Amino acid sequence: MNADQVLQTIQDEKIAFIDFWFVDIFGELHNVGMPSYAIDKNSFVNGLEKLDASSIVGFKSVNNSDMILMPDPNSFKILPSDYDPGHRTNARIFCDLYDGSTDESSRYNRDSRGIAHKASKKLGEFGFTHTNWGPEIEFFVFDTINVYPSPYAATHSYGGSGYSIESKESPWAKGNVSTAIDIKEGYYPSQPKDTLEGFRKDVCDDLYNHFGIKIEAEHHEVATSGQCEINLVYDEMIQMADNVIGVKNLVKVKAKRKNKVATFMPKPIFGDNASAMHTHQSLWNGDSNAMYDENDELAQMSQTGRYYIGGILSHASALCAISNPTTNSYKRLVPGFEAPVNVCWGLANRSAAIRVPMYNRNQEKSKRLEYRVPDPTANIYLLEAALLLAGLDGIKNKIDPGDPIEENVYKLSAEKKREYKIGSLPVSLKGALDSLGSDSKFLEEVFTKDFLNVYSELKYKEYVAFAQTPTAWEVSMYADA
Ligand code: GLN
Ligand code: MG
Ligand code: MG
Ligand code: MG
Repeated sequence: MNADQVLQTIQDEKIAFIDFWFVDIFGELHNVGMPSYAIDKNSFVNGLEKLDASSIVGFKSVNNSDMILMPDPNSFKILPSDYDPGHRTNARIFCDLYDGSTDESSRYNRDSRGIAHKASKKLGEFGFTHTNWGPEIEFFVFDTINVYPSPYAATHSYGGSGYSIESKESPWAKGNVSTAIDIKEGYYPSQPKDTLEGFRKDVCDDLYNHFGIKIEAEHHEVATSGQCEINLVYDEMIQMADNVIGVKNLVKVKAKRKNKVATFMPKPIFGDNASAMHTHQSLWNGDSNAMYDENDELAQMSQTGRYYIGGILSHASALCAISNPTTNSYKRLVPGFEAPVNVCWGLANRSAAIRVPMYNRNQEKSKRLEYRVPDPTANIYLLEAALLLAGLDGIKNKIDPGDPIEENVYKLSAEKKREYKIGSLPVSLKGALDSLGSDSKFLEEVFTKDFLNVYSELKYKEYVAFAQTPTAWEVSMYADA
């Protein structure tokens, strides 16, 4: 849609308000609404001077704070009714951020959408036209979220409060939508065990009817009652990042309207599966999939695709600062819960960081890799940009990842892992940030030094606050020491 079409649609559909959407450096969605009568052609030419950027974490200081929101008419969508209990018809538009003026060189270097845009421009240098992205979004929906004393501490306090994984009695079940599904037993149940089927279908209807987002499938996930998954049909880079922001926000809004709470934190429950955001990606030159090679007997994966995989694997630790950006992210990346801990690739192998799905199906259209490390707290714009740059770095420097590993990597001995040169992912946010500190060159043409500095500085602060906070687990473990 162009600006004229947006203005016409505002008239035709009697749109009351336009919500102007943008994200901060962590991918959190922000919104400023304007009545539609205040919008005209000029809004799309000169942008909206509506942003005091000093009030957004990670943006500007008070003495230099004005910023321009430039609405991208292509992202105009009429919002589902749950967005307005007052029964108005509103629409949303994603904005790009500009600093000072509206020419291309003034795009704000801390605008995540701008960073993704800049990364996508690199494709041409490598002879590619576009990339396709397909995330699988996992999340929990609870009745309420209560902070329970740590069940781990309970099992260690000799008779504590009765929770143990063995007995599969979870105190979390009280807070869940249903008590019907036990720890790790939530994969593909039917109704009435799955009480969230209707919720997910309502979400998917709105996604399609309002945002034009198609989904592959929706289902309950492995964890106890409340873990959901929605898989999106692939789309191009910026479009998909906008889609993910839209999905996460819609899920939270619709849960709230039902007096429930949706969370994308990776690991809300000790001892149960966590939430991931597996990210499928493929590289295209027009109609031709640069990852596909029918003559490769093992994986039908081209040498270009292998180098791209090599690039991601070689930068996996640094990438974690973006793909797994919270202290909680590292409670997911542990053995035993289908989450990756080892830096290697495989074919049907779900214990590897990268998987090549349907590796022997001879299908050019669907040849892709699945990066299994990210979780849904990642800022999707930065995630796509960083993954792309890591992959392109692999192509540029011909980083070959060797042959795919077909063994269960969780069970490999330390010796075997050394033999196969399989590294481990960082075990903490600090580890990931340290890696980013020493391995950021592959990002630097797109992510400015200024951006990486402010991002890391704020994330280190978050880590320090976490590390210095006495937790319920520690209190019950050590109070009587
Ligand atoms: N939830 C798992 C993870 O944390 C993934 C489960 C799956 O989709 N197979 O990675
Ligand atoms: Mg899945
Ligand atoms: Mg899943
Ligand atoms: Mg998957």
